[in-house]
Amino acid sequence: MSQKFTKIVATVGPASTSREVLEGMIKEGVNVIRLNFSHGEYETHATTVERVKAIDQDLGTHTALLADMQGPKLRVGMMEDGAELVVGAKIVIRVGEETGNAQTAWTRYEKFAEDVQAGEPVLLDDGKLRLRVEETNGKDAVTCVVEHGGILKSRKGLNLPSTKISLPSLTTKDCEDLEFALGLGVDWIGLSFVRSAADVVDLRERIQAAGSHARIVAKVEKPEAVDDLVGIVETTDAVMIARGDLGVEVPMEQVPMIQKRTIEMCQRQGKPVIVATQMMESMVDSIAPTRAEVTDVANAVLDGADAVMLSGETSVGDHPIEVIKAMKAIVTEIEKEPRIYHLHREPEDIRPERQVTDAICYNACELAQRVGAKVIVTMTFSGYTAYKVASQRPHAPIHVFTGNESILGQLALCWGVEAHLYNKMVSTDHTISDVKNILQKHGCVGEGDRVIHVASMPIAEAGMSNMLKVSEI
Ligand code: PGA
Ligand code: MN
Repeated sequence: MSQKFTKIVATVGPASTSREVLEGMIKEGVNVIRLNFSHGEYETHATTVERVKAIDQDLGTHTALLADMQGPKLRVGMMEDGAELVVGAKIVIRVGEETGNAQTAWTRYEKFAEDVQAGEPVLLDDGKLRLRVEETNGKDAVTCVVEHGGILKSRKGLNLPSTKISLPSLTTKDCEDLEFALGLGVDWIGLSFVRSAADVVDLRERIQAAGSHARIVAKVEKPEAVDDLVGIVETTDAVMIARGDLGVEVPMEQVPMIQKRTIEMCQRQGKPVIVATQMMESMVDSIAPTRAEVTDVANAVLDGADAVMLSGETSVGDHPIEVIKAMKAIVTEIEKEPRIYHLHREPEDIRPERQVTDAICYNACELAQRVGAKVIVTMTFSGYTAYKVASQRPHAPIHVFTGNESILGQLALCWGVEAHLYNKMVSTDHTISDVKNILQKHGCVGEGDRVIHVASMPIAEAGMSNMLKVSEI
């Protein structure tokens, strides 16, 4: 539908769950709909999923559904209006559910007093307010000194960047939400506050036990995740650079290089990577983004992200469709830059069983550039070749033909990929000419255009990719 390589993820919320807005956003270039399980009722999420599936039917699109688990996100409880924390004053944070004021705040996080230690920072409201632990009774009360004051409002986030938090990555609420989300048939599960590769393995086991094919987006937003980045990228299926919490959990000035390093690492392993949070934040209430935001989106595309994400802009903002138009305009402009294409990264031969496929995918991109191919076509069941070809960032769009319905949505997150459901893997010659006809009918190729084909021969056996062919329309 939209001729762009970089994908757009839009978070839905009150501003965007109507059929009209969802359809408008998808028509303007949204590829992934994110259901944020920190908010919203099950019924609303279910309705959204139904609507997206109906829109896909009508438009012939394959929109991915990403169910984002809340994870161990800590918060303060209710606060009296206008409670102001003053620099140098003391405030006691207690475990429980009462209403707080300037002297006492409450949190439901039961191990709070057990986990924190004197001297550790406590950040509130995305780091706008900053406290330092003076002492803890190890049970239910922690005395803090205010270092950066301000008004503390109800239910604001609480971050503990230096504390070893004993909560698991999947809380009891997450496990319930996960079961519900998998039941809706979502394509991707967002795992918040990942700390190690083991967290990813644990989620994968749960997904498999539920008999689902959903894949995992590990959200990098803790210092521990940055330390175990190599292991996490290896274990997960995709990554989100969750700059909102990340910028509170690590010094904010470290976020830009973490973004660049993470993107490069993901590209090398053929794992889709999303840049998230505050990309077009001012468009929550303003009709145009700031110059800095335009440049931020542009830089994410230049860095090589698979996808850029919107949160409040589309979930609670005033202009959910306008923000997609603006984001798409930036993306398509930057995609005119030759430097984002043709990475020429030789396969690293880490897994011998993938050596042939990896070499084929790499050379498909070299060949596409050499002969000026209009498109690259891959036939795949698992989707592996699609991710591998995309990770080389070829200038020719990647058309994936698959008989596996469960990967159609998943691939919507992957850079440069458009997926087609295709079941007629008869013989190589027949399939190749059939696929060319389909692409021509879709207007993707015309007379005289060259096409690169990646497939396995014999095609009906659907083995590993071992064939590379150039054809002409
Ligand atoms: P969240 O994740 O919106 O679920 O908090 C994104 C982020 O932290 O940036
Ligand atoms: Mn977050």
